[in-house]
Amino acid sequence: MRKKVAIYPGSFDPFTKGHINIIERGVKVFDEIIVAVAHNVSKKTIFTLEERVEIIREIFRNRPEIKVDYFEGLLVEYAKKVGTNIVLRGMRTVSDFEYELQMALSNKTLYPELETVFMVTESMYSHISSSLIKEIVTLGGSVRQMVPEIVEEKLREKLLKR
Ligand code: ADP
Repeated sequence: MRKKVAIYPGSFDPFTKGHINIIERGVKVFDEIIVAVAHNVSKKTIFTLEERVEIIREIFRNRPEIKVDYFEGLLVEYAKKVGTNIVLRGMRTVSDFEYELQMALSNKTLYPELETVFMVTESMYSHISSSLIKEIVTLGGSVRQMVPEIVEEKLREKLLKR
């Protein structure tokens, strides 16, 4: 049987324990997850594309079923290139729903075979968002509970020396 490969796309700026939770649950459903870091030139990010890819690779370095890659441009084109039609996304709140619905419908219009699969966040991660994390670190707070250790270290280096 063909391997079921799902793409988990996102900005991951920074990568959080909420993202890890979706990936860990994703590999129980799919044979392989490709964490695809989006290179969005118009979006100002804390970490460069290379830094985000490197951090996530380091976190999953002993996990052959979790690949880390990046893409630029349309997700549907990337999915075709990789040879899968499954996209995994996480859902936290009602506001996520509106945005995610719009994205999923747009992607389906562009590529009708594409299926977006949603995983609902576990409640202990539902409050974790990249923007909140940036704010806490900038104000000198600890985000240890919300991000992997390596991310906390890199965030401090970046945000505090500004
Ligand atoms: P994007 O810029 O594409 O929204 P993000 O890095 O913010 O990328 O998120 C990637 C995916 O992970 C999205 O589907 C988002 O809803 C999901 N996600 C983000 N934070 C959490 C969380 N705490 N729990 C579950 N899913 C999450």
